[in-house]
Formats: sequence, structure tokens, C-alpha cells
Amino acid sequence: MWRFGLRVANPITRTPHLKPNMSPVQSGSSISARDLARAWWRVLNGHVPLLSIEITRECPLSCPGCYAYGDSHLSGETTLRDLADFRGDALVDGVVELVRRHRPMHVSLVGGEPMIRHRELNRILPALNEMGVFTMVVTSGVIAIPEEWMNIARMRVAVSVDGLPEHHDERREPATYERILKNIAGRSVNVHWVVTRPMLARPSYLEEYVAFWNARPEVDHIWVSLYSPQIGEESAERLMPEDRERVADELPRLRLAYPKLLLPEGMGRAFVKPPKSPEDCLFSKMSMNYSADLRTHVEPCVFGGTPDCSQCGCSISSALHWIRDVPISGAFKVGHLVRSSLGVGSAVRKLRGEAEPPNRWGTGVRFVGQRTPLVQIQAQEEGETL
Ligand code: SF4
Ligand code: SF4
Repeated sequence: MWRFGLRVANPITRTPHLKPNMSPVQSGSSISARDLARAWWRVLNGHVPLLSIEITRECPLSCPGCYAYGDSHLSGETTLRDLADFRGDALVDGVVELVRRHRPMHVSLVGGEPMIRHRELNRILPALNEMGVFTMVVTSGVIAIPEEWMNIARMRVAVSVDGLPEHHDERREPATYERILKNIAGRSVNVHWVVTRPMLARPSYLEEYVAFWNARPEVDHIWVSLYSPQIGEESAERLMPEDRERVADELPRLRLAYPKLLLPEGMGRAFVKPPKSPEDCLFSKMSMNYSADLRTHVEPCVFGGTPDCSQCGCSISSALHWIRDVPISGAFKVGHLVRSSLGVGSAVRKLRGEAEPPNRWGTGVRFVGQRTPLVQIQAQEEGETL
């Protein structure tokens, strides 16, 4: 993702299941100072600024290493495939109700593949826009982006493109380059890229990727995350410390030649030295994450399971980790302001007698919500086309 200033784009990302958050790029979708002030006021009143919702458990891709479908993604007691998800009015009403309840500044709609529910999104996106909420749909690009969505002011689409075709097409078939380019033609999207170790074997790879997508007229911005493993994971995708140093050094310099790339130097440094734990991660503190039954929470962050913070490459987390050390006045930094605001918000919730979790701003909370009176539905019927 991400930017926390007036021009912050934000991909909530996880890897390989990318989850960008917000982005201000298209006309009318930039976050204004008024929006930020309003968001801060909401935080002081006990609301989370960021909401992420896995709106469906379904996905036509089978990316290797996908941990959205991993056994530990949702606490280990259930899996995304086991959850009952929603469609039609139940999904539209359920999402809008969650947003009304939490009053976030920004909502990420993810999956599974959220575009499986594009008919419902046709109603959800305008509704959230009317509520003054910024929304990001994070998709594999396997389904065409509706042209009319481009007229929704507070909405962005982020397409996950994990490397050049030699890597991406193999991992993310049927959402291949050919299909993505067809499905975004004439639209305006952000591209989100998760860098894995095999992509660093060729010295020119990073620039080849950035040059390709920077030249595409459909692309507004390119967001980068690094592969973020779970604790104990030993995979070929995992970057070594020297790989992180290289990415942190090379990508910010590429911005000079390829202006669509959003990767400030400070964010690169956060890739090298990420938060130590969820308690040390502002992103984890600032985001509430729901899975497909609209009740189960994804904790401690959008990755779920037991993410290895010491190897986190999430672009949003890295951006927030970077800006938290930006001084506001003397020794008082952005991180102090955010944490004290969250503390005030937490106290306000208690004063209001709101017993419902969260407090997700406590440590290591993992819970299942109880009070959303929604009707469980069946998954997509066999044979139904997308
Ligand atoms: S696109 Fe589907 S299979 Fe691939 S990482 Fe995301 S949820 Fe998993
Ligand atoms: S630092 Fe840890 S808690 Fe924060 S986003 Fe990364 S993996 Fe999640």
C-alpha cells in the first residue's frame, strides 16, 4: 500500500495472496486532509481506520503456497474452505453492516477471488462510496473489471501480478498475463507485485518488471511487497537478508526512470528491518480483518496464521513502520501519535461499555465475532459460470 500522507497508496498485501489497501490515484479518489482528520477523529472514538474483508471463500486459482487456504490461516480451528460464505442481498447487507459498525476510513475487499462476487460488488462499491469510505478491490485479474466501476470516486482496483510471465503465468494460471491485459483493457488499475527469491536470479529482472507495467496505459501505480513467510517456513520464495538489501537499494532508484513505481527509500529500509512482532506493527494495530462468514477474524494481521514478522515484506506494514519514526515535534513521532490515539479510542470503547471484541488493540487477540445475524449460504453451484 501505501501512503499515509495525502498521497498514500496502500496495498495491503500478503504473499502470495495479495491484499492491497488503499490508493488515491484516480481522479476523485485521493485522500484529502479532511478525510484524514475525519479518520483520526474516528480512531479517537474507538473505531479502526482500516477494514479488510474476505468476501468469498471461492477462487478459481490454485497458487502454490497460498495460505488463504492454509490450515492455520483462521486460527487452526477452521479453514477458509470450511466457512459458509454469502452471496446476493446477504453479502451486500453484511458488508455494509460491518462498515457501518466499524466506520473505517478504508476497506479492502479480498478473497478468495472477490471478483467471483462481482454482481454483489456492483452494489457494494457505490454504497460504500456514498458512505464516504475508500475501497480497494484486490483481484487476480481473472475476471474483467466492469467499466462502470471507473466512475466510482472512492474506489480502486489492485491487480496482483507476481513477476514476469515466466513466474506469474505458471503460479497464477488461469489469471495469466494475456488474460489480465484483456480484463483491464481501457480501465485504470494499480498493480501489486510480490517479489520472491527466484525473481532475483537475473540482475535485470526488477527493472524489466517495472518497465513493463510502467509503460501500460491502464496502470496508475505499481506497489511492491516482498514474500512474507509464516514462522518456520522454508520455501524457495523466501528472501535472504542480502536479497532484501538489494531490493531496498535498487527499487527506490528505479523510481527516477519509472514514476509509477511507489516505493520510497524509507519504505525500502523498512523491508530490511521490519516490525519485530504484531505488537510492534502499526498495521496490525490499525486494521480489523474479517473472513468470508463476516464473523471470523483474521489475526494478527491480514496474513493470518503465524506470520514471521521478522521477514515481513507487506508494503502497508513497511510503509507504516517507516513513517512511525517521522518526527512531528521534537522527540514526538508519528508512531507515538498513532499509538496514543489508539489508546484513547480503546478507552472510549470501554467507557461506552462496548464489550464486543475487539479490543483488537490488545495483544495477540484471536476471536470469532458473535452478533452478526446473517444467513449462511451455499458456495457457488456447480457449473455456474463466473
Ligand atoms: S488468488 Fe486464490 S489461490 Fe491465489 S493466493 Fe489468492 S486466494 Fe490463494
Ligand atoms: S509485521 Fe507481522 S503483524 Fe505486521 S503485517 Fe507483517 S507479518 Fe503481519
